[in-house]
Amino acid sequence: MHLIKIYLTLICIGLYACNTGTKESASEESASEGTASSENPQKKWYKGNLHTHSYWSDGDDFPEMIMDWYKSHGYDFIVLSDHNTLQVGEKWKLIPKANIYQEGLQEYIDKYGEDWVEHKKDSAGSTLVKLKTLEEYRPLFEEEGKFLIIQSEEVTDGFEGKPIHMNVTNIQTLIEPQGGNSVAEVMQNNIDQVLQQRESTGVPMFPHINHPNFGWAITPEDMMQLTGERFFEVYNGHPAVHNYGDSLRPNMDVLWDKVQLSYLLAGKPLLYGLATDDAHNYHVFDDEHSNTGRGWVMVHAEELTPNAMVEAMERGDFYASTGVELSDVTFDGEALSVKVVAETDIDYTIQFIGAKSTDEKGAELLKEVKDTEASYMLQADDLYVRAKIISTKIKENPYKVGDVEMAWVQPVKQ
Ligand SMILES: [Zn+2]
Ligand SMILES: [Zn+2]
Repeated sequence: MHLIKIYLTLICIGLYACNTGTKESASEESASEGTASSENPQKKWYKGNLHTHSYWSDGDDFPEMIMDWYKSHGYDFIVLSDHNTLQVGEKWKLIPKANIYQEGLQEYIDKYGEDWVEHKKDSAGSTLVKLKTLEEYRPLFEEEGKFLIIQSEEVTDGFEGKPIHMNVTNIQTLIEPQGGNSVAEVMQNNIDQVLQQRESTGVPMFPHINHPNFGWAITPEDMMQLTGERFFEVYNGHPAVHNYGDSLRPNMDVLWDKVQLSYLLAGKPLLYGLATDDAHNYHVFDDEHSNTGRGWVMVHAEELTPNAMVEAMERGDFYASTGVELSDVTFDGEALSVKVVAETDIDYTIQFIGAKSTDEKGAELLKEVKDTEASYMLQADDLYVRAKIISTKIKENPYKVGDVEMAWVQPVKQ
């Protein structure tokens, strides 16, 4: 716990620096069940973000304002995944003095009214606001089949100063960080808690590993040791997470393939990749802040409910995106096919990446097509294949300046 406290303190320091910053603009399934198909007309694509913060931890806005942003920007479902907390009980938030936060408070009051917003002043004249619980704000936004809020927590743990964070989508009761004697053990202990809660409640939920390269904390070798882990963030919009690795450490695509190959050779299930915002900052939009709208998932499901979202994702019926939209992803047990919703004057490269059982060197680029649709016929020696779509469209308010819009299709196997 001592180390966790140190790390939480560091988060707070980071937040403080941010608030006062000088920047003005401051169960394994068969492959044939695999990936989404347009053959089923009842299924729809639902857009969601599985990683967001609010004033309940170190995010800098009220849950209602954040929900309003996502709902008004075309999202169908959202989680607020605050650090080691669920949005329950009484919490008063001291609003920082800086103008952007005071203006944000005024905007909140203007939008929801004095009858809704409970606030008071402390002896120093600072404003405290009572945060609305999930049960309080949920009815303002949820609409059947149109907008869904799923309960989540970012279980925020660590080992020897390394941050080890894991989101739990559709969590029912708080999970305290479990600790452990290695990076892998800390992850496994927390995963086991999630699986235990799932078992005891009977409610579908899953853990996902957040931003492995944040603090250079989690290596492919750490992840290879895990059992019961099916999801990780191939893309996280927070500027500090090192999605692209460095000269010594792997980017998230390389990490994915290394872990995937190891999992399959060990008889473990497919590992799925998520794109998330990990939004904390709602008042200053630039590449030094973690903002909304950077990464999301598109889930192919029959209805918009927590269980349907979790179960579709566990079947691999989704893709991750930073902007590229797909009209069709099909796996018929033999071929993986992808179709892009093409935008005018934008070019697309579709890559099929996988590993062969006979290949010593690991994952490789199996096929690359410059088109808006492509398919790859799995060979007998293909352990798995996944697709990545790279567009020429420059991403707006990106994670890194110069980023182009992309999408990641989940791996399939025969
Ligand atoms: Zn985190
Ligand atoms: Zn986070």
